[in-house]
Amino acid sequence: MQQKDTWRWDLSGNGIFKCKVLSGLIDSKLLNTSSSASGTLRNSFVPKKVEVFVWRVNKGRIPVLVELDKRGIDLNSVRCPLCDNDIECLNHALIKCEKVRELWLKIFEWWNISQPSTLNISDILKGNVGQFGSDLGKRLWQSTLWSCIYHIWKTEMRRCLRAKVGRYRLP
Ligand SMILES: [Zn+2]
Repeated sequence: MQQKDTWRWDLSGNGIFKCKVLSGLIDSKLLNTSSSASGTLRNSFVPKKVEVFVWRVNKGRIPVLVELDKRGIDLNSVRCPLCDNDIECLNHALIKCEKVRELWLKIFEWWNISQPSTLNISDILKGNVGQFGSDLGKRLWQSTLWSCIYHIWKTEMRRCLRAKVGRYRLP
């Protein structure tokens, strides 16, 4: 006896497809990292696009000029297109560049937190800068840090990168 072919959803156990289940699976597979260095990379105070950006930062998948050069893209220079003071690595692009340091000063001033001289990407991802009495405060601060690196990248750096490598389409 022949049966008609049918679609079956096997990832939820009951055979019923639900977008919510699929979304949860994608989140758990893509956004939860096993990297102990970064801890959890979830923060419900930021949009998914910021979480995805943070995940890409954590994995070193942001196309700064040094990374493009490593992947064999022929560039005239890997120096920062904004300040030309250093090579454009992730740490420089998002934190150390003189063009973004003023923004960081204002963010820390706004939160009344003294900015550590050794601020780095790992601290920002973990939100381990400053002391907070509650988990809520720490998560809000982390969401501010994440939003800040997202917007730094999406505005000035992206514009300059496009100008620098013009013919390459950057994500
Ligand atoms: Zn710079």
